[in-house]
Amino acid sequence: MTIDTPTRTFATVPHVVAGRRIADDAGRRGPVFNPATGQQTGEVVLASAEFVHESARAAQAAQRGWRDTGLGKRQQVMFRLREIISSRSDELARIITAEHGKTVDDALGEVARGLENVEFCTSLMHHLKGDYSEQVAGGVDVHQVRQPIGVVACITPFNFPVMVPLWMVTTAIAAGNAVILKPSERDPSAAVWLAEAFAEAGLPAGILNIVHGDKEAVDAILDDPIIRAVSFVGSTPIARYIYARAAENGKRVQALGGAKNHMIVMPDADLDAAADAAVSAAYGSAGERCMAVSVVVAVGDVADSLVEKVTERIGTLVVGDGFDPTSEMGPLITRDALDRVTGFVAGAASEGARVVVDGREREFDGDGFFIGPSLVDGVTPGMRVYDEEIFGPVLSVVRVATFDEAVALINSNRYANGTAVFTRDGKTARQFEYDIEVGMVGINVPIPVPIGAFSFGGWKDSLFGDTHMYGPEAFSFYTRRKVVTTRWPDPSESQISLGFPTH
Ligand code: NAD
Repeated sequence: MTIDTPTRTFATVPHVVAGRRIADDAGRRGPVFNPATGQQTGEVVLASAEFVHESARAAQAAQRGWRDTGLGKRQQVMFRLREIISSRSDELARIITAEHGKTVDDALGEVARGLENVEFCTSLMHHLKGDYSEQVAGGVDVHQVRQPIGVVACITPFNFPVMVPLWMVTTAIAAGNAVILKPSERDPSAAVWLAEAFAEAGLPAGILNIVHGDKEAVDAILDDPIIRAVSFVGSTPIARYIYARAAENGKRVQALGGAKNHMIVMPDADLDAAADAAVSAAYGSAGERCMAVSVVVAVGDVADSLVEKVTERIGTLVVGDGFDPTSEMGPLITRDALDRVTGFVAGAASEGARVVVDGREREFDGDGFFIGPSLVDGVTPGMRVYDEEIFGPVLSVVRVATFDEAVALINSNRYANGTAVFTRDGKTARQFEYDIEVGMVGINVPIPVPIGAFSFGGWKDSLFGDTHMYGPEAFSFYTRRKVVTTRWPDPSESQISLGFPTH
């Protein structure tokens, strides 16, 4: 069949700084691939440290005017942006598929979830409201305002090239900041599209700057004195590094890391619904989601029939080019990622687990970075397949005897991004919610990504810092509170008093 390919990616993906595309600097370049064919489709400019510092200065120069822009005008930008993205979501989804590989349908879902953040920010006037306390002492009032921080940096992973940037930049901009967005160098074109959509929506030049790069650019961001805050999403080792170095330099920082998300299936659960949920959450986007279910915890005697039902469903999954409308799962992002995932499946058997479905056995034409879905049973802590984040289409099954054992297993994991329980018993569900030490919890919901009016974040090694992303917490992260105490005394009552003021 003929596959409908995208129309709008770049041969050389440019930076966008102060409203200008910049692709002609003499710096380094990185390759960009179509993961479905394994072919290089372009290259991306990689910023030098000096380029990052120049971009920060450009952002700083633009920020003052944006801060002075009335809140109503800022809201209008968000309303227009919402219309631009929603009316052209297909175009944007195709850019995602071309460089990431996920199916167009999945990419449309990503765009829709990112759009929630724009919608939340259309009410920025409400979210930026301050507080007022009248008469805290005789004739004295106190009020608090939220002011922008200035220039903030957003550093994003490859797996959601639209949604995660929108988690960050939308609120940062709504709050009056200027942004340096450093997208993943593996799928960089969507960020350029976003910057141009913001510009079309009326955002002044220099408020959203796209600076591509790798470690050199990131280190320059972490050390740049103009950049006052850093939002990061990526793997745990890099999140830990970003958190430490940015904090050392006195910046505000939130750094979200990796995950190992467990889904408990209780003996009373509807096993068909649980199997559907496990397959959808484990293999959607080829398992390259930070909220993907990677471990099913089968409680009591459900394991055999659950494994059977998941196996049947895997057999029907169509894996192929994300532009092929019949595909349900696309390729992995790079050849390295493919080799890594292949290694986990190969290693599982030698560690004593049972590879029930071996994704390496699926055959694919061409050089795309494809592997089929795998199911591994009899997994226990201590095996690499359990201990490490795989970030691919590999679902492990851990068998436990009781609910308490399942909860203890999850609570002893170093990751704590998302988790779910499948049960028909309200008391079990409530106990799970109460005891589980994980940031985002699903009750019969396998991927509990909070809607835009809440905030997103894990616990433990899944988040360094104390503020979650988007929603109300993001307005706190991207603003500084200033508290003003006011008195309008009658000059005739003025006197000297060296005592510490009390009410
Ligand atoms: P990554 O950590 O390799 O890269 C993330 C960003 O950091 C990229 O912009 C990259 O250029 C930069 N980077 C990479 N290596 C660096 C280094 N040595 N020094 C400085 N910067 C560096 O992550 P990825 O492979 O792009 O994304 C997948 C990871 O992201 C997974 O671990 C996944 O769980 C995680 N993730 C987490 C969430 C969450 O909300 N917790 C969401 C999405 C993805």
